[in-house]
Amino acid sequence: MEKELRDKYEEISALYEELIAIEEELRSNYKELEKAKEEADKANKAKSEFLANISHEIRTPMNGIIGIIDLLKVTELNNNQKEYLDMLSNSSRLLLGILNTILDISKIESGKFELTLKPFNMKKTLDRITKELSIACSKKNLEVFYYIDPYINFDLIGDEIRLNQVLINIINNAIKFTEKGQIMFKVKKLHNTNNKLTLEFSVKDTGIGIKEEFKNDIFKKFVQQDMTYTKKYDGTGLGLAISKDIAKLMNGDIWFESIENKGSTFYFTAEFLLNYAEDMNNDNLNAEDDEIVSSKNKRILLVEDNEINIKITCEMLNRLGYEYEYVYDGKQALEKLKENTFDLILMDIQMPELNGYDTTRIIREKEIKTKEHANIIAMTAYSMNGDRERCIEVGMDDYISKPFDMDTLKNVILRFI
Ligand code: ADP
Repeated sequence: MEKELRDKYEEISALYEELIAIEEELRSNYKELEKAKEEADKANKAKSEFLANISHEIRTPMNGIIGIIDLLKVTELNNNQKEYLDMLSNSSRLLLGILNTILDISKIESGKFELTLKPFNMKKTLDRITKELSIACSKKNLEVFYYIDPYINFDLIGDEIRLNQVLINIINNAIKFTEKGQIMFKVKKLHNTNNKLTLEFSVKDTGIGIKEEFKNDIFKKFVQQDMTYTKKYDGTGLGLAISKDIAKLMNGDIWFESIENKGSTFYFTAEFLLNYAEDMNNDNLNAEDDEIVSSKNKRILLVEDNEINIKITCEMLNRLGYEYEYVYDGKQALEKLKENTFDLILMDIQMPELNGYDTTRIIREKEIKTKEHANIIAMTAYSMNGDRERCIEVGMDDYISKPFDMDTLKNVILRFI
């Protein structure tokens, strides 16, 4: 009996030692795993930052390309040149679209994706969208129907650009994947409280539909039903992934119903704030006539170091009827402001000598004494390092992101002078 016990004891001791060895091994495996995860996280973060930086860098020359195309368009051209220029214009806008998509993805991945809430008029947004939808459908000989709930409050506060992005994405998909039949676009009111409104947008098509086995993957990044190298449809497979994130930020969602070879319906819900301040005065229809008068004798200072951007922006200001001067950096701007006054300053951010942030800070410090206020608008290259937030933080009044077109420039200037 004693021998048996001793044997058992030895057996258990051996087992115990084995267990300890296993535990140690597990522990060290776990440490290795943790280290590997940390490294993977670091690599992923580096990748997101690289993506953001590279798209930021590419946007600046893109600004030059798109700006020059716009300027070329109004010169005298023969038909051949016009056609080439249109192609160039389409390709560069497509490229800019892809660039923006990459920037969005890197923002989402690094948790820096945010909405910018501003007052806007939903009716104008929907008018523009339905107009684009009609043109695109008529090109493909598709019928188009709309229903927009007439009892919606149209004066809202929300992120109009992101709303537009989601709607255009699902509408473009509906058109892209439909060869014949119709597209139906509906906007319905879901809930309405004192200060909030939830809308449901839906886009129904009679296109190729979505295969059962693909339905679970559709909102994943880089996923398309047709993944072959001889793809029939263009696209990056990122649109719906980004749309889903935008919908979530808007306290809404995006989902779909689809039957293969019959068609699909995409639903998108989003919440907006009601803008009571705007409900009262909606008679700005004659603003166009006033603009020409209002630009007379207004002086603008452009602070920008890139020659091509100077040329483009000055040409736009010229066409809009503004007087302007330009300088190459913040130091020169401060010199200029000693002797001259301007109605508005357009300020680049990245400049040699003195950058846009520091220049603005110095101007604002001086204004504490003089009690004046210069209108300063930043021209950012839309990076993800919180450019926009920093602009406002240092005291700029607004920003536009490069590349911008003449309308965008005009609208931002008109908000101040
Ligand atoms: P992209 O359109 O750039 O490929 P999306 O993320 O917008 O990227 O869409 C992902 C995929 O979902 C598409 O490639 C397509 O296979 C499928 N899809 C989206 N909308 C529709 C639709 N209305 N009908 C059929 N398939 C669709």
